[in-house]
Amino acid sequence: MNFYLDVDRTIITKEHREALELNDFLKYLFNTGEVYWLTTHCRYEDTSSVLSYIMPFLTLENYDLIKNIFPTTWNTLKTEAINFSQPFYWFDDYLLEVEKRILLENRCLEKWIKIDLDKNGNNIMRAAKSHNPNLFSSI
Ligand SMILES: [Mg+2]
Repeated sequence: MNFYLDVDRTIITKEHREALELNDFLKYLFNTGEVYWLTTHCRYEDTSSVLSYIMPFLTLENYDLIKNIFPTTWNTLKTEAINFSQPFYWFDDYLLEVEKRILLENRCLEKWIKIDLDKNGNNIMRAAKSHNPNLFSSI
């Protein structure tokens, strides 16, 4: 299972704090599959800018965890980075219409887990489960 992870308003809040239960969330992903960045802060296999961007917002433990997230390469659309031949989930607060259409064309729109921290008390586990209640039992 591959997991693709956005940054802004997904693992950190709009107030630039780490999401609640981020540690449980990250541990679950790392115990279950491979984790990849899918964020504007990491486009060309280089994690240095995403790491320096989020370091001030994270606990030391979570920062040590996210250093193990793999980089991706994409240019204009995040969907360029997704390996559609393998099972995946994509955690992101917002997708472009064209990105949603590409997921639809690949018959996997349900693999996008929309993270709405505002509606879920800034808790990423709750936000993910509210989008797909079976998520953490089915993967
Ligand atoms: Mg975002």
